[in-house]
Amino acid sequence: MKSHVIGIDIGGTKLAAVLADKDGNILQKARKPTESEKGPQHAVQLLLGMVDEVLGLSGLSREEISGIGVSCGGPLDTKTGVVYSPPNLPGWDALPLKDMIESEFHIPTVLENDANASALAEARFGGGRGYNYVLYMTMSTGIGGGIVANGEIYHGANDSAGEVGHQILLPDGPLCGCGKHGCLEALCSGPSIARRAQEAITDQSNTNILKLAGGQIDHVRSEHVLQAARNGDALAVALMEETAYYMGWGIANLVNILNPQIVLLGTIAVAAGDLLLTSIRRTVAEMAMQRPSEAVKIMPAELGDSIGDLAAISLVI
Ligand SMILES: [Zn+2]
Repeated sequence: MKSHVIGIDIGGTKLAAVLADKDGNILQKARKPTESEKGPQHAVQLLLGMVDEVLGLSGLSREEISGIGVSCGGPLDTKTGVVYSPPNLPGWDALPLKDMIESEFHIPTVLENDANASALAEARFGGGRGYNYVLYMTMSTGIGGGIVANGEIYHGANDSAGEVGHQILLPDGPLCGCGKHGCLEALCSGPSIARRAQEAITDQSNTNILKLAGGQIDHVRSEHVLQAARNGDALAVALMEETAYYMGWGIANLVNILNPQIVLLGTIAVAAGDLLLTSIRRTVAEMAMQRPSEAVKIMPAELGDSIGDLAAISLVI
C-alpha cells in the first residue's frame, strides 16, 4: 500500500530528505551540506542517497511511497520538472531534476519553487488551515511569496506568479537584486533593512544599533535593528516603523488584487511580532480598499524552522 511520502528540500547550504505519513507526520530525516561548489550532479547524488537512507531507516520499500515532493529555489518549470539557474545554486542550469529522481526511484515526483511550496505548507499545516485564500510572504534575505487558492498553488502562465517582493513601490528607490529600483524587497528584506540602518546612522546618531553590531557600521544587520527597537531605541523604532509602512503598502496592493482571507508573514515578521504587525495592519487598513481590507487577517507564519520539510511533503499529500 502506498502509505507514505518523501520530501526533498534543496537549499543553497543544506539538503534535506524526509519521510512522512499521509497526515504530514515526519518519521525520518536526513540532512547534508549542499556543497554547491561541487556542482549539481554531486548534490543530486547526495539527494538520491539520502532518499535511500530515510527509506532504509523507516524499513519501508519504494513500493510504499506514493510520491516525492521537491522544494527548490526557482526559477524552475513545474510541468517539465527542470530547474533553471537558481541564484543560490550555481551551475544548476536547465537541470532535469524531476526526470533524474523518477528514473532512479520510479516514484511520481513533483517539483515546486520553495516559496510556493512553503505557502502550500502554511495553508495545509500552519496558519492558513481553514482558509481557502491564503497569501504567504517570506521576509528574510529576500521577499518571496506564494498564493494558495482552494488548496492549490496559483502558478500563473509560466510559474512566475507570487513574486510579491518585486512590486515597485518607489520608482526612484534603491536598486533591487532583480535589476529594477524600489521593489518591496529592496526596502524590507533583511539586507535592505540593514542597508537603510547603515545609511541612517551618522556620527551624531544617538542609537544602540551600532553598539549591537560591535561598533562596525558594515556589520549592522536587521537583527540588530530589531533588538534595538525592542529596547526602545528611537532610530531603530523609526526604521521598523518605516519597514512596516512599506510592507503595509505592498500588502495593501496584494489585498486589493487577490482578496485573500489571510496573509501570513514569515521570518522577520515572526521575530518582530507586534513591533511590525501592528503597524502593518494599520497601514493595510488605511491603504487597501474597504471590502478586501475587511476580509483579511494579517498574521505571523506558524511553521518556523519546520517549514522546509513540510513544504516538500505538502506537494505530494
Ligand atoms: Zn526587485
